[in-house]
Amino acid sequence: MDSPFFSEEHRIFRRSVRKFVDEELNPHVDEWEAAGRFPKEVYKKLGDLGVLGIRYPAEYGGADADIWTTAVFCEEMGRCRSRGLTMSVLVQTDMSSPHLAYRGSDFLKKKYLPGMISGKRVGAIVLSEPEVGSDLANMRTTAKKKGDQYILNGSKTYITNALQADLFFVAAKTDPSAGKKGVSMLLVERDSPGFLIEPMKKKLGMHASDTGELTFQNTPVPAENLIGEENQGFYYVMESLQKERFVSCCAMTSSAQQAIEDTIDYAQSRNIFGKKLSEYDLTRYKLARLQTRVEAARQLTYYAAHLYDRGLDWTDAVSMSKAFCAEVANEVADECLQIHGGAGYIEEYDIPRLFRDLRLWKIGAGTTEVMYYILAKRMGI
Ligand SMILES: Cc1cc2nc3c(=O)[nH]c(=O)nc-3n(C[C@H](O)[C@H](O)[C@H](O)COP(=O)(O)OP(=O)(O)OC[C@H]3O[C@@H](n4cnc5c(N)ncnc54)[C@H](O)[C@@H]3O)c2cc1C
Repeated sequence: MDSPFFSEEHRIFRRSVRKFVDEELNPHVDEWEAAGRFPKEVYKKLGDLGVLGIRYPAEYGGADADIWTTAVFCEEMGRCRSRGLTMSVLVQTDMSSPHLAYRGSDFLKKKYLPGMISGKRVGAIVLSEPEVGSDLANMRTTAKKKGDQYILNGSKTYITNALQADLFFVAAKTDPSAGKKGVSMLLVERDSPGFLIEPMKKKLGMHASDTGELTFQNTPVPAENLIGEENQGFYYVMESLQKERFVSCCAMTSSAQQAIEDTIDYAQSRNIFGKKLSEYDLTRYKLARLQTRVEAARQLTYYAAHLYDRGLDWTDAVSMSKAFCAEVANEVADECLQIHGGAGYIEEYDIPRLFRDLRLWKIGAGTTEVMYYILAKRMGI
């Protein structure tokens, strides 16, 4: 996974995150997957490792590092044997907290950002609703200004970290007649009145990541918890979704890489018709082809990072990367399971879990169809 984009500092950082994943996370993932959640202390340990505020200012406890450091972190988290845990952590680092770090007032940042960076406070990003997922401009949840409060009403669904989170970054309509120009982002604390959280169980994959449904019934939110400007929330969400998609690509490509490595090990140890499975040209061809596709996916993701690093528009690169990485990761999961034969269908190996987990990335953070919809619009067709 080396690349000319990474410095010696990035390589040292990669080794420290890999060690953490191997020693502190992987030995426990079977237990956490079975429980449908992982202990909150994991966030504190990640906070101690200094990885929950990679690009955030040092004055709040962040590392003031670059997008390549984020890429390294997400790639190494992608090697955690519970991709659900990885997803939950990325919701904290690159999906919820950026709203606070990049758009929050000084008051909100002082109050909440150090806790998110240290891992004491867990975040959730709250966009999807039962009636609306891709088409966020049509969300139904409302936030009506009343004195020095907003009154929230509505339902949200599929919310990652719902059962663990302390801070919920909620998109709601402050001007329901104005479409996407009437959406605002609010920071809602867990114990707010009229705020109900129900677990959503029995997911196909991502088992260690908890998911919930939220209901707001006349929930008061202090007006000072508005993120950025009123009615600008849709644009903040669209901007932030680019980062969500980017980090998901980094995680997906490294999960796929790990599946290839596992499959090489398996093929080298499996004897069929008198020789090793890895010695058959068909197997070698399949694995080399998959490796080529993973490398292409990774390079497209690095190209997106390069654009971001230079302050250039990365929307096309991120959209292509999100669609392509999800396709490649799912193809790798399917082909690697196939090379495992019947063993690939048995939970003793990581491959069935990986197969289920990676399926989400064609849906979450914007579906593959939505990525191509965005691209087609930008192509002028
Ligand atoms: C495990 C899990 C965790 C999640 N975590 C979160 C979270 O933390 N926060 C959050 O807010 N949401 C979360 N989501 C929700 C996720 O972001 C949505 O499911 C996703 O955006 C799709 O929305 P939808 O499910 O409403 O599908 P819909 O928008 O109803 O889409 C249905 C189908 O229509 C297709 N489609 C959409 N637009 C077009 C088009 N223009 N042309 C053709 N086809 C189209 C879609 O690709 C899809 O195939 C999570 C979902 C899951 C399953």
